[in-house]
Amino acid sequence: MQSIQRSVLPGTWSASTSEVLKTIYYRGPIKRSEIADLLGLTKATITTNVNYLIAAGLVKEDEKPVLDSNSLGRKARRVSIVPDAKHYVGIEIRGYKRVICVRNLMGKTIYANQDNRLFHGYDENVKLGCSMLQEALDACGFTLNDISGIGFCMPGVVNSEDGILDTLPSFGWRDKPVRDDVRALTGYSGPISIENNACARAYGLRLTQRELLKDIHNFTYFFISRGIACPLFLDTSNVVGSVVGAGEVGHMIMQPNGLLCSCGNRGCLEAYSSDVAVITRCKEAMDHGEAKLLRSLCQGEPPTMQNIISAQMEGDEDVRRIVESAVNMLGLAVANVVNFASSRIMFIDGVLFGVPENRELLLNVIHTNLCNALHPGTEFRFVEPNDYSGANGAAALAIHDSLTYGDF
Ligand SMILES: [Zn+2]
Repeated sequence: MQSIQRSVLPGTWSASTSEVLKTIYYRGPIKRSEIADLLGLTKATITTNVNYLIAAGLVKEDEKPVLDSNSLGRKARRVSIVPDAKHYVGIEIRGYKRVICVRNLMGKTIYANQDNRLFHGYDENVKLGCSMLQEALDACGFTLNDISGIGFCMPGVVNSEDGILDTLPSFGWRDKPVRDDVRALTGYSGPISIENNACARAYGLRLTQRELLKDIHNFTYFFISRGIACPLFLDTSNVVGSVVGAGEVGHMIMQPNGLLCSCGNRGCLEAYSSDVAVITRCKEAMDHGEAKLLRSLCQGEPPTMQNIISAQMEGDEDVRRIVESAVNMLGLAVANVVNFASSRIMFIDGVLFGVPENRELLLNVIHTNLCNALHPGTEFRFVEPNDYSGANGAAALAIHDSLTYGDF
């Protein structure tokens, strides 16, 4: 957690201010009486906090009053967030890609850009990611002072409290002081939030799916990329909460003494079902003279996930066999995860699931292996993979931290 460095109005921010602000943010436009009912706080507390937030320019009141059903026909004005009151930057670094975005307080993206060059080193990635900031600010007509927070995310095991990347085995990154590095490279003195990139996506989804998640107090986000993670997002009573751990499910053992994983163990899910694993299997097939359709699509280059999906859809049977085997393993893993921590909704985000038959197979395997006697209630939803979801999620995390700590 970050300390409160720059409150909107010093001295008056409290835990109830955060609860009121989050309720307006995630449920607004909303009447004061509804906030009081939801949070179980007195109307006087709500009034003090709402007035404070209006004075700070974060919240506005509707011009027209609506009928207040709780107050015997009296009319009340609803309150909502001022979308352009604050702006945030989100950055994701992923080795083969760095993505940046600028979003307003309500999550509208006003700038986005990506750099797709492959660099394996941490230093190059963090430096290039930060170097995209100036161009982003210029494009928006902003200076650093116009930014209320930077969210920065990457794959791997991240200690978000201390702003440190503990380890990213597949790239050999270890013990990196990410927050300090981002501060030094950008010169930004405001709040910098650091997270794992699957967790950041969960924050991004919580922000954009406000309506869907209004009365759902927990969800999991199963993210398949070069690694595999499954963070759990947990609310506390009626207040939007936060992610609980990255859920490094990529290293659950699916096959004793199985394939070698980037972490050094054998038989991890990641070694069978990550994008890297699928690409490796397909490349091996091509080297053995199989996957002819894929080979013709690649034209001498190593296969990409897009090539693999195209080949599968065009009927390359060798590719289909490899993909099915990866999806099968993912289905088993998902069933295990749900048996362990049954969430109301599991969102599934992976390039393979742009193909309808892969979605169908996954759901079949999940439902065959899930203990339905115990966990009948989890709903599975597929997320359209998006190049910008990590950076958008990082900005959403920075917004979330502002709402939580009053650090604008
Ligand atoms: Zn592993």
